[in-house]
Amino acid sequence: MSDDEKYVCPRCGSTQEFRRVEIEQSSAALLFFGGLLPYLLSNANRKNMVLCERCHYVFAPKPAYSLTGCFILLILAAVLVFVIYTYASGR
Ligand SMILES: [Zn+2]
Repeated sequence: MSDDEKYVCPRCGSTQEFRRVEIEQSSAALLFFGGLLPYLLSNANRKNMVLCERCHYVFAPKPAYSLTGCFILLILAAVLVFVIYTYASGR
């Protein structure tokens, strides 16, 4: 067993007893709230999840996903502000 696959459960904090799982579930709620890009990113990432054997919590093993998601949300927010600003000052 290699040591480069150590995860930390975000719910119970356990660092042991994880199992890789593949999950396919509808992301309609995420699509509704988060937009298309986070939806696609989530779908791409959702194929490889990790299950905590202690509390049965399923989470994405790569923290880079959340960084990417935040980055995209930041861009979307910037675009939204730009559109609102343009609309407000364009009359
Ligand atoms: Zn856990």
